Amino acid sequence: MGGKGRLRDYHGKRHFDRTAEPRGDGREAREERDALPRFVVQIHDARRMHFDFRLQVGDVLKSWSVPKGPPADPRDERLAVPTEDHPLEYEEFEGVIPRGEYGGGTVIVWDHGTYEPLSHDRRGRPVDFAESLERGHATFRLHGRKLRGEYALTRFRDADDGEEAWLLVRAAKGGSGGRGAPDPRRARSARTGRTLAQVAREGG
Ligand code: MN
Repeated sequence: MGGKGRLRDYHGKRHFDRTAEPRGDGREAREERDALPRFVVQIHDARRMHFDFRLQVGDVLKSWSVPKGPPADPRDERLAVPTEDHPLEYEEFEGVIPRGEYGGGTVIVWDHGTYEPLSHDRRGRPVDFAESLERGHATFRLHGRKLRGEYALTRFRDADDGEEAWLLVRAAKGGSGGRGAPDPRRARSARTGRTLAQVAREGG
């Protein structure tokens, strides 16, 4: 992670003369300005409707595609398939990716905010969050407009065994309040209050 090649996969998939998605060469990590790293959950009406779950780790957004979105019930385990690191500016992205381009379709920012890394080792000592992700299990508390409480991401299949796959779960002791994923077509942007259909008509 870090260095000039940090968004190589992200850049390789996109034509920036055709999509209004951010190039991601503008903004530095906001860790120094903000006490806590950022998260965003976008709803993406692409070939298949899905949620994109992104956590700031250093100067990128680590990203997972979550078909059913984040769960409200601790008994629900939601499949989360990793996608390429995105630039920090992507937290703000809402708009229409042209048809035929990578991820073509409409995107809204369903929720965003900060998160507290909670990862610890078996003895209860805190461990570096990026390292916990590399090892395949990370816990964190979301402070969003809609999502609040403790969640965990756990890798259950490695890329060597096919497509890498994770589970996103809510911790039973995660605290009160917050919600699970909405009906994507009725959901409203945390940024602009708009639905997917409104953004599709009006653009970013
Ligand atoms: Mn997506």
